[in-house]
Amino acid sequence: MAVDFDVAIIGAGPAGSACALALQGKGFKVALIDKEAFPRDKICGDAIPGSAFKAINSLRTTWGDQMKAFAHSMDITSIAIFFSKRNVIRYTWKLFSYNSKRMDFDHFLFQLVKQETDTHVLQQKQLQQVTVIKDGCHCLFADGSSIHAAVVVGCDGAHSVVKRQLVKMEEPDTLAVTAIRAYYKGIKGLQPGCNEAHVIKEVEGYFWIFPLRDGWANVGFGLFKNKNRKDRAPLNLRALLEEITHSPAFADRFKDATVEGKVNGFSLPIWTRQRSVSGDRFLLCGDAASLIDPLQGHGIDLGMWSGVMAAEQIGRCFKTNEFSANKMKEYDRALHQKFGPELSRNYFLMRLFLRFPFLLRALSLFNFPKGIIHWLFVKLKL
Ligand SMILES: Cc1cc2nc3c(=O)[nH]c(=O)nc-3n(C[C@H](O)[C@H](O)[C@H](O)COP(=O)(O)OP(=O)(O)OC[C@H]3O[C@@H](n4cnc5c(N)ncnc54)[C@H](O)[C@@H]3O)c2cc1C
Repeated sequence: MAVDFDVAIIGAGPAGSACALALQGKGFKVALIDKEAFPRDKICGDAIPGSAFKAINSLRTTWGDQMKAFAHSMDITSIAIFFSKRNVIRYTWKLFSYNSKRMDFDHFLFQLVKQETDTHVLQQKQLQQVTVIKDGCHCLFADGSSIHAAVVVGCDGAHSVVKRQLVKMEEPDTLAVTAIRAYYKGIKGLQPGCNEAHVIKEVEGYFWIFPLRDGWANVGFGLFKNKNRKDRAPLNLRALLEEITHSPAFADRFKDATVEGKVNGFSLPIWTRQRSVSGDRFLLCGDAASLIDPLQGHGIDLGMWSGVMAAEQIGRCFKTNEFSANKMKEYDRALHQKFGPELSRNYFLMRLFLRFPFLLRALSLFNFPKGIIHWLFVKLKL
């Protein structure tokens, strides 16, 4: 069967858009397909990590410059981790980064793909079924249409259809993370350029307040759920958010604040171990490959880097006309080499702090050596 496309990228979030940008100029016929119409929202903390800029810059510096100059953003240069009002660790970084609503940021990347590449962009097309056949993949969409592509890249997020249908049974994770996000206007005491993370008894991770442009802020928290532990009743995240913002520690700051839009929760497929992220004629990127840092919760940068690396793998596959699972393992190895050490370290630390929550708090009471703080935040390989 003749292919309609050399590459079909399913999902036009940061991973999918980065992959399409990275494939530009390689001579392939590429489709970028999303179930939504852009601009679309994505539940997130909206903190775009510095290494996401590096990923785009590695493709073309003018694209990196455009991403830096993007107006719907607030430059962020530091984080303040509060253990109490007076017990605060501050960390400042040099790498350029900003906060930007995903509605705007993802649309910017999507527009960049449309303007700068000859990618075929298909919106409001929901992948329903993907089957690997002899010379490619058959993708069937909810509207009844279908395409045939030599390679499929699954950038379709936390509930990836590509992953569910093409990855052979894998052991499920026992640890799941769900997080809630709300947009507020009018919170008192926001510090422009500084993200706030509050270690509080109500949540196992941290409660964040990330400032945005025009007096807005992205507010939320994540909760870990051990699937083997039946002792905890399911929590109502919205009720818990209310409880936190009305608690003595925050009531004054949120007194005149208003919630803008819906308050929604979403799952974070955190990295817990090296897993298979490819197979015959397919690759997984971003959340579909569980590439979220388990300690800090960022995944936009990892998603974009994996999109870039998937494009490199596709180049190697076409060069030798090999699309077997064995060939695709080169991608798994490259990903693990680049991100493995940092993600393993952070998974270890996350479990340590989860098991012994007093540890972080206790350490914070002493004058935290700068070297340790740097080690906690530093990127190892990006
Ligand atoms: C509450 C919360 C807070 C977070 N905070 C941060 C943060 O501050 N900084 C950070 O770096 N990361 C953060 N993350 C993680 C970050 O949101 C993800 O890692 C990132 O969005 C991954 O990008 P992606 O392109 O892989 O997936 P997504 O951004 O989820 O994009 C997937 C795309 O695929 C499309 N799609 C899905 N299914 C189909 C289908 N069947 N057919 C066609 N299209 C489909 C979707 O419409 C979507 O556009 C947070 C996550 C959560 C839940």
